[in-house]
Parts: sequence; structure tokens; C-alpha cells
Amino acid sequence: NHLNFSGGPGVLPATVLAETQQAIECVPEVGLSILGISHRSDWFAGVVDEAERNIRQLLQLPESHAVLFLQGGATLQFSMIPMLLLRHRRQTADYLRTGYWSAKAIPEARLEGDVRVLWDGEPWGFRRLPRPDELAYSDTAAYLHYVSNETVEGIQFHAIPGLDRVTRVCDMSSDFLSRPFDPERFDLIYAHAQKNIGPAGVTVVILRRDLLHRAPDGLPTLLDYRTHLNAHSIYNTPPVFAIYVVLLVTRWLLNDIGGLDRMDAINRQKAASLYEVIDDSDGFYDGWAAREDRSLMNVVFRLPTADLEAAFLHQATDQGFSGLKGHRSLGGIRASIYNAMTPEAVDSLCRFMWEFADANHS
Ligand code: PLP
Repeated sequence: NHLNFSGGPGVLPATVLAETQQAIECVPEVGLSILGISHRSDWFAGVVDEAERNIRQLLQLPESHAVLFLQGGATLQFSMIPMLLLRHRRQTADYLRTGYWSAKAIPEARLEGDVRVLWDGEPWGFRRLPRPDELAYSDTAAYLHYVSNETVEGIQFHAIPGLDRVTRVCDMSSDFLSRPFDPERFDLIYAHAQKNIGPAGVTVVILRRDLLHRAPDGLPTLLDYRTHLNAHSIYNTPPVFAIYVVLLVTRWLLNDIGGLDRMDAINRQKAASLYEVIDDSDGFYDGWAAREDRSLMNVVFRLPTADLEAAFLHQATDQGFSGLKGHRSLGGIRASIYNAMTPEAVDSLCRFMWEFADANHS
């Protein structure tokens, strides 16, 4: 089996993969395959409840915040958020344009109302994030939207931007449950599953319940968060399989890893090993991100020439490393090291990178 460093779907922890295989055969409590269990069964309502409880426990989430399991990916949140918070309002929403994904959210918000790009990283090639003194926040903004980890460029916020008195909305798709944070400082968080928390098909949304008082009239039923809150995330047919695997992953985080502080320490160590190779390679590997903004999830770098990058990818594949090709919009190399990527796998990638540099560095 190849080691999968893909930036899209993350890998599952080995124990979770084994439990998932078992569940596809048969969930013992039910006597049926997970693929054939009704979303209206009591058993599945219990799955949703426990997945929510586990996320609450991992984040120490207060009751003021609801947890929802939705569909449509993170991309649908680009629209549902301004539908809730911007439609029919005289306010402006502030967006930080820090990379590929935050840039995608902005045109969707503009369909619903006024948007101000508070900071744009494009002139810097999206290699760095704003410093606090570059951000002139507005007290009267409808909300601030930012992406905590830009998956394509490999840049990550290590401090929370924005004013606590302004509604704070964050796309955590590629770093959710990879590190602890104070949930009280967020009004709406969203994260699709396919990086750290499970397979594609489900998107977790955490929102402050009182945001829903702002909902405009006339939202389509399925695009109204209240529908999903009232139905405990089982309004229409949910992605039963994906939500079940999210439950298994949250159990793994709680019981096998021991919580988010521990997960964070492991993730820091993995990222440090890769950045050390980059920094010690005498310029052979060129890290994309400014040092202080380096992502702990996506390590993006270049080699001196396109031919060397092609050779690197080719040899990596031969040696059993998959998914290292950078995002199509950026090129280069990207090693994604989400929660389930083991330190041992990262070490073997580091060894490969050293060997490749030794053989090719002139
Ligand atoms: N936001 C971020 C940070 C992402 O990394 C991605 C995809 O990788 C998306 C949004 C889009 O997610 P989806 O394909 O689930 O709509």
C-alpha cells in the first residue's frame, strides 16, 4: 500500500480503517452493513448523537454552539453563510483573501451582499498571511470570514484574526480537530470531512445558536441551518457512512490519541521534520510559505527545476509515496500530513527527500 500524502482526502487511521472495513461487512449491534442501515433507525440517531458529543468533548464546546452534519462540501458553506448573515442587510462582510480557497468564497458572498476584501495576499503570491498591523478591522462588519489553513499554498494562521465583538466565521476544512482552539471566539466554523475527520460526503458546521435569529425570510429549506438544527442533522437522507466514520475518528482522537493537545504535539513534530529537511537542504528544496505562516498540515515546496520536480514525483511514486504533486493551480510539491499520517511515514518521506537531494544537488 502506498503512503498517501494527498492534499485532498486524508488517510484514515489504521485502526479506524479496520473498523470501517468491519462495518461495511456488518455492524454487529445491527446485523447489517453500514451501507444498508436506515438513517431513520434508532441506531443511526445514536451515531449522530455520539459524534456530536465527541466533537463537543474534543473542543470543550459550550451549549451556546450547535453541531451540524451537512452536505454540499465546504463549497456550499461559501453560499449558506452569506445567505444567513448578509442577505438583505445594509452591512458589509469582511473577507481575508489569503489563498486559493478563501478567494473562492468571495464571489459567492458577493451574490448575497456587500463584501470588502480586507486584505489580499495575491501580490505576495499567497506566500504569507497578514500581520496584525496590516488589518484595519471594521466594528460594523456583518462578519469576518477567513480560512484558517490554506490547503493549496500551505499557509496557516497561528493566531486568530479579527475583533471578538464582530461575528467571526472560519473555514477550518483542512485543520479542524488538528489542534485545540477556543471555540467561544468563533460564531461559525465549518470543515468538510475529507482531511482530518473522515471520508468525503459530510461537512461539520459549528455555529452559535443565536446567529439563527438573523436568518432572513425565504431561504430554501435545505439551505437554512434551522432546518438541520431542528432535525438533528437528519432532515433528509444524510451521508450515513461518512458520519459513521467521523464517529470512529472522533473516538480515535479521544481514546487512542488522547485529545487535541496531544494531536497538536504529534502534528507539530511531523511538520518540523519536513521543514527541517527543507531548511537544511542548502536551497535545494524551496519552501513556499513564509516561515511564521507555515502550515502544519500541508508542506508546500519547490525544487530548482521542473525536470527535477518531475523526477522527484516519479521516484517518489516508485518508492511508494503517493499524492505529492502540488495543487494544479500552483504546481510544485505538496506533502499533506493530516492527523492520520503517522510520524513514521513522515520520517520515511524525509529520508527519501534527503536521498533525492544528495543524488541531485549540484
Ligand atoms: N476550503 C478549504 C480550505 C479546502 O481545502 C477545500 C477543498 O479542499 C474547500 C474549501 C472546498 O471543499 P469541498 O470540495 O468539500 O467543497
